[in-house]
Amino acid sequence: MALIYDNRPYKTRIKECLADDFKVAAIKKAQDVFYDKRNTVVADVPEWLDFRAEAAEIRDHVLNHLDYYVNQFAENAEKAGSKVHFAFDDKEATQIALDILRQREAKMIVKSKTILTEEIGLNEVLEEAGIEVNETDLAEFILQTAVSPPSHIVVPGLHFERNKIREIFAEKLGYTGTENPTEMTHFVRGYVRERFLKADVGVNGCNFAVAESGTCTIVSNEGNGRMASSIPKTQLIFLGAERIVPDFKALDVMMEMLNRSAVGAKISNYFSMMTGPARAGEADGPEETHIIIIDNGRSGILGGTFQEMLRCIRCGACMNICPVYRHISGHGYGSVYPGPMGAVLTPLFKGYEVAGDLPYASTLCGACTENCPVAIPLHELLMEHRHIMADIEKTRPKAEEAIFTAAAKMFGNATLFDLGTKAGAIGMNLISNKDCTVPCHKAQGGQWKNVFLDQGYMTDEYLTPDYFRWLYTAFTRATGTLYLVNYPEEQIV
Ligand code: SF4
Repeated sequence: MALIYDNRPYKTRIKECLADDFKVAAIKKAQDVFYDKRNTVVADVPEWLDFRAEAAEIRDHVLNHLDYYVNQFAENAEKAGSKVHFAFDDKEATQIALDILRQREAKMIVKSKTILTEEIGLNEVLEEAGIEVNETDLAEFILQTAVSPPSHIVVPGLHFERNKIREIFAEKLGYTGTENPTEMTHFVRGYVRERFLKADVGVNGCNFAVAESGTCTIVSNEGNGRMASSIPKTQLIFLGAERIVPDFKALDVMMEMLNRSAVGAKISNYFSMMTGPARAGEADGPEETHIIIIDNGRSGILGGTFQEMLRCIRCGACMNICPVYRHISGHGYGSVYPGPMGAVLTPLFKGYEVAGDLPYASTLCGACTENCPVAIPLHELLMEHRHIMADIEKTRPKAEEAIFTAAAKMFGNATLFDLGTKAGAIGMNLISNKDCTVPCHKAQGGQWKNVFLDQGYMTDEYLTPDYFRWLYTAFTRATGTLYLVNYPEEQIV
């Protein structure tokens, strides 16, 4: 799967997602569960905000000295016996992997969950070359079997109902059991265990690479990562160039932030550290370890307006709170990186022509920023994308520019605003009912209105003839700017 897996227009994608009742309900439920769990474990750490500031500082320090830490990591990894490769982009990364596999005449690989390999489209390249790819993380296994893109970076199979999973397993793998999750999990376990034993190569990602020792780490809630990284004789580890920490002390801080933010747990079920292949006398571990360090657009972000985005530790906390993600789900973004982090990152990797709609998939409420364990100012970066597209690259439609120029004039001038609201009131009177309410279907704002309503930013009482009050509040929320007019404060929710 490439970084962008759905090239259809943004509106087509979100219409489809919004019409999928199961998906919308599943995302809402998951968000609520993750939100509560995260809050509980974060509340256990009174120094959470200090940790958060420290984590952001560590990430900034590494990014500001990335050349140094990449070299230090590579040197130490080679000293520990790994072979380090550098890939400028996705093509180079997949070619390096393919060459290694071909040299070993590999026919089959097992993979643990790694979103970076989805970013570079590794599976497709290997499958085209006739190599059998086996995802071994349960959710990734379901997606691979169903041929479906992920809808979340931590829980990618969120959009599947258990009876649908049973159907897919029955149809494609001959499963004859019930839709009981434990029974289905046992079935998958049996299926992938055989592959672990037969696979020529294990493919893994790396949550954090430790520069001082050349160690790669895998955080996982299933044991598959440990098996994929220790049973096959050859090991490939894909590492995003920015995912480095200087030392184990820094790793400790990052792990504290990652586990609590990602799944609302104090620790993960499994945490593996790999420093080179197995040494003489060790009972298990690979005979050779290759680490492919991938740039793929990251160096272009470094040193610029969006550098803070490279702090991202892929915990998914920003999408677990985002009101837009809640409605359009991961598939609305069409990118393997969905939610607020994806809306910032995808245009940086693919450009505005391909992903220019994504920065608009946000209410700019700032909840993502607040939830981010490394304090990435996500809503400000989304705003910056909009600013660049509107004012510098002029990529937005002319009509939109004219409307917003006029709106800015109106909202910036008390007299014009007053006239506008009066004209609006006349307009609303024309479309309102006898009881002076505006039928929902006539109110403007489309799906955004539903987002505001659902999040409790708006209530139905705002759908009155004084419609501009509703629009005003929505606009204030959407732009993050409080326009000073004479509305009573309690009505600006
Ligand atoms: S942007 Fe922040 S909250 Fe979102 S995935 Fe990255 S680290 Fe987590």
